[in-house]
Amino acid sequence: KDRVLSGIQPTADSFHLGNYLGAVRQWVDLQDEYEAFYFIPDLHAITVPQDPKDLRARTRRAAAQLLAVGIDPARSTLFVQSHVPEHAQLAWVLNCLTGFGEAGRMTQFKDKSAKQGSDHTSVGLFTYPILQAADILLYRPQRVPVGEDQRQHLELTRDLAQRFNSRFKKTFVVPEAHIVTGIAKIYDLQEPTVKMSKSGATPAGRIEILDDPAVSAKRIRSAVTDTEREIVYDVARKPGVSNLLVIQSALTGTPVQTLVDGYVGKGYGDLKSDTAEAVAEFVAPVRRAFDEYVGDPAELDRILADGAERAREIAATTLAQVYDRVGFLPPR
Ligand code: ATP
Ligand code: MG
Repeated sequence: KDRVLSGIQPTADSFHLGNYLGAVRQWVDLQDEYEAFYFIPDLHAITVPQDPKDLRARTRRAAAQLLAVGIDPARSTLFVQSHVPEHAQLAWVLNCLTGFGEAGRMTQFKDKSAKQGSDHTSVGLFTYPILQAADILLYRPQRVPVGEDQRQHLELTRDLAQRFNSRFKKTFVVPEAHIVTGIAKIYDLQEPTVKMSKSGATPAGRIEILDDPAVSAKRIRSAVTDTEREIVYDVARKPGVSNLLVIQSALTGTPVQTLVDGYVGKGYGDLKSDTAEAVAEFVAPVRRAFDEYVGDPAELDRILADGAERAREIAATTLAQVYDRVGFLPPR
């Protein structure tokens, strides 16, 4: 079986629908066909300030959410990044192979640092994509399921893999982006041209999968649409309406066009209440399963320890080769 690897940051109490529909749902499906590695990048999370207590709680909550939506620890390796020290160790080596200007061209860094100002921007945020390259290359996956927002980082990963392989010796697999066609990109409810994000924008723009459905319904009712009345899918002209159509379609499996046909003669109120209902139906069983997992932290930690052990076996082998090939004297 080919390998896949992907991660989701513990930067909020709950995943939002963009995380689920744009990423995690695909991870669940990939478990059949691939040997899958899924991890919680807590090292990445601290590239922006995090409260230690929240970070620890959110790491467990992220694991519980992944399990609740169907990541199966018997088939997939589920682990926390900081439990596998090889990630940080390989990142250092890759840091030394990356050009300063090359790292400076990453648009996510440019966007985030422009918002924060350079005195509030950590060097960690600057080298974030290099740590991400280490995360991936350690496991030699053939495929990496990534959202559109991560494409440039995956390009850097491929460049670094090729650079290491040609400067030293073939060590890394050069991974391909695994793009699922028809995968949803979900936008902020209040600002429907910006992606829904855990740490961005205001809570009112997000639909969180662990929220009370009544809260989500309220946010959906307040979602920005437009001053017209017609329900059609047109991202450029009607981003808010289109976003709601995409959400409802992705959750119910009904094609967008079928939804649109059904809304002839109806209004935005109908679109919003149907979308809220689809969300409520989806989250009910997820919340129940989540509560069970967080209710038993010892079992959760056992699953994560087990995953880390499996991950480390592979990561340690790759790192040992890397250390040897760059010329580090082996300890004895
Ligand atoms: P943060 O704001 O902390 O970066 P995030 O919401 O962007 O959080 P990540 O943990 O960075 O979430 O990403 C997890 C996965 O979710 C990635 O595969 C990313 O591509 C995907 N993703 C994030 N936001 C969206 C969105 N709005 N629509 C579709 N996919 C998304
Ligand atoms: Mg992100």
